Amino acid sequence: MKNDKILLDHGSGGKATHSLVSDLFLPAFENPILAELNDSAILDTETKRLALSTDTYVVDPLFFPGGNIGDLAINGTVNDLAMCGATPLYLSVGMIIEEGFSMAELQRILEAMKAAADKAHVLVVTGDTKVVPRGTADKVFINTSGIGFIPEGIDISGHNAHRGDKVILSGTIADHGITVLTQREGMTFQSQIQSDTAPLNHMVREMMGKSGQIHALRDPTRGGVGTSLNEIATQSGVGIKIYEDAIPIQEQVSGICELLGFDPLYIANEGKLLAFVGTDAADKILETMRANEYGMDAAIIGEVVSDSPGKVFMRTRIGGTRIVDMLTGEQLPRIC
Ligand code: MG
Repeated sequence: MKNDKILLDHGSGGKATHSLVSDLFLPAFENPILAELNDSAILDTETKRLALSTDTYVVDPLFFPGGNIGDLAINGTVNDLAMCGATPLYLSVGMIIEEGFSMAELQRILEAMKAAADKAHVLVVTGDTKVVPRGTADKVFINTSGIGFIPEGIDISGHNAHRGDKVILSGTIADHGITVLTQREGMTFQSQIQSDTAPLNHMVREMMGKSGQIHALRDPTRGGVGTSLNEIATQSGVGIKIYEDAIPIQEQVSGICELLGFDPLYIANEGKLLAFVGTDAADKILETMRANEYGMDAAIIGEVVSDSPGKVFMRTRIGGTRIVDMLTGEQLPRIC
């Protein structure tokens, strides 16, 4: 590669753009659909029901323990598709890059994207790159969109949580948000913690294979577990009761939250899910999750109750009960 920095010319659509695409992007995501290089990717699918999702990533810093903006952007869209019971298939990647951005760092980001896509078994089939003048964007922003097919008979939706359902959380909370925050604040001295960014689609497939009683799934990203639970309570018109001492959290993460005055219930996760499942199937599904590398710390953290529709309550460690509201205000900007 001739340049070690991204130039405005790389976004011109001309020669430099073509060489950026052919030297960097095509090798990174190599597959026959992308290689066609038409204005659209052309996809053959055998299914009637498709899920489509999009998300934009502006995390600061770009690189953090456990991942970088690249794998975060792939996993995030893969997970949003999986939360609807879809099998993610194809992704698009749109990048807005600031003039002067390091070519080597772009390469590292692309490598992480490729590794994440491989792990999730999805293909990046189309994309776009824009370069904006120095100072008009911060380093790099990434949008990913994805489509997946929904198998016959699957109806997983935030509207489907039933009274009596158990609420399963797939692992420890707040790891991603606290990792990014401590990096940003230079609080890296004590930190073994790392982002939990991960593709959850294979675990979801295993869960669905075990039971037809998965009613709702959600990945508690921005706004955390507290906000996701409120979304489901509102969408399904049910009350949700959770137990503080059942919620998995790493000691170090909980310590940092305490120190900085953050409630871990509202901190972003990037490799966790909440599942609302029929009571009879809960143990079986929990066992399946625990057998997966991304669900080893899964736990039943609560249940859907008949009173107070639209509200979330938590039985605290000291035995009281408090309302868990939706996150208000922006606690941690540019966390994902
Ligand atoms: Mg989501």
